[in-house]
Amino acid sequence: MVLRIGVIKGDGIGPEIVTEAMKVLDQVAKVYGHTCDYTQLLMGGASIDVHGVPLTDETVAEAKKCDAVLMGSIGGDAKTSPWYQLEPSKRPEAGLLRIRKELNLFANLRPAVLYDELKGACPLKEEITEGGFDMMIMRELTGGLYFGERKTVEENGVMTAYDSLTYNEHEIRRIAKRGFDIAMKRRKKVTSVDKANVLDSSRLWRKVVEEVALEYPEVTLEHMLVDNCAMQLVKDPKQFDVILTENMFGDILSDEASMVTGSIGMLASASLNETKFGLYEPSGGSAPDIAGKGIANPIATILSAAMMLRFSFDLDQEADAIEDAVAKVLEEGYRTIDIMSEGKQQVRTDKMGDLIAGNIG
Ligand code: NAD
Repeated sequence: MVLRIGVIKGDGIGPEIVTEAMKVLDQVAKVYGHTCDYTQLLMGGASIDVHGVPLTDETVAEAKKCDAVLMGSIGGDAKTSPWYQLEPSKRPEAGLLRIRKELNLFANLRPAVLYDELKGACPLKEEITEGGFDMMIMRELTGGLYFGERKTVEENGVMTAYDSLTYNEHEIRRIAKRGFDIAMKRRKKVTSVDKANVLDSSRLWRKVVEEVALEYPEVTLEHMLVDNCAMQLVKDPKQFDVILTENMFGDILSDEASMVTGSIGMLASASLNETKFGLYEPSGGSAPDIAGKGIANPIATILSAAMMLRFSFDLDQEADAIEDAVAKVLEEGYRTIDIMSEGKQQVRTDKMGDLIAGNIG
C-alpha cells in the first residue's frame, strides 16, 4: 500500500521528534511491504521564515492531496521569538487554527494510556493504577460553547456576558459515529458524557447518541454526567474505553485524563474529518526550552504515527506493532530524560527512535 503522508515538522523540537516517527514508519513500511510517500509541508514559524505567513494556500492544497498529515508542533518562545512581534493572524498558531478549519477536523482523539512501567509518574494511588489503564477521549472540536454566539452587554448598569452552547443533530451524529467506529477497534465500550440533567443541548446529545448506538449492537453504551466523569477519572480510570463528549467537556476531561498518565512526552493525538483523513500530532507543544538538545521524548509523535496507521489507513496490525515496540522499549528500561527514573537507562531522542524501530519486525 502507498501511504501518502503530509509531514509538518514544525518548530522547536518538532523536526527532532518527527524525524524519529518517520524512522519508525519507514521500518513498518519495510517489514509490512508498504511505501511511505512523504510530502514535506511548512507551517508555523518555519513557514513564516520562508513565506512570511504561517500557512500558505499552496500548503493547504498540498495537505488536501495527502491521505493524512503527521505533525510535530509549531510555535516558539512568545517572549523572545520574532514570530510573536507579528499581528496575531500572522503568528505560528494561526496556521494551526487555519489548517484544522480548512481540513474540517471536527473530531479530536486523545488517548490516555498509563503504561505499567511508568506508573511512578501517575499521581494516583497504586491500588487504583495497578495494571495501567487505556482510554480514548473523543472530543467534538468545531461546535458547542466555543463556537456559539457570544456578547457582553450592560443591562441596567450591570455588565452581563452571554455564551451560547449550540449543537444540531447532524453535528452530534457525525462525532457519535466516529466514536462508535473507534470503539469497534478497541474494547467496544462507549461512555457518552453530558449534562443531560440540566442542558437541552445535552438531552439532544443523549438522544442522538442512543440512535447511533442502534447501528452498533456490539458496542456497550453508557451515559455519564460530566461531573461524575471528572470524579470517576481519578477514582477508577480503568472502567473507561472510549469517552465521547462535546467540545468544552472534552477540553477539560482530556487534560484531566492526560494528567493522570504522567508525562506530556507520551501523549499522542489525532484530529479527524468525515473521511479517513486525519492530522496526527503529539499533545505537547514545541518545547523551545529543550529544542535542538536531542533530549525530547519522541514517543508521543511515534504513537501519533501509530494512530495514523490505525485510523487513516486501517492498518491495525502495523499500528499494534508500533505500540508493542514502545511498550517493549519501556519494559527494557530505556527512558528519555522527561520520564527518567532511578535504575533506568537514559537515552537521547534519536536512540529512542532507533530502539523502537529496532523492535518492529
Ligand atoms: P510545551 O508543551 O511546548 O512545553 C511544556 C513543557 O513540557 C516544557 O518544559 C517542555 O520541555 C516539556 N515537553 C513538551 N514536549 C516534550 C517532549 N516531547 N519531550 C520532553 N519534554 C517535553 O508547552 P509551552 O512551553 O506552553 O509552549 C511552547 C510553544 O509550543 C508555544 O509557542 C505554544 O504556542 C506551542 N504549542 C504548540 C502546540 C501545537 O503545535 N499543537 C500545542 C501546544 C503549544
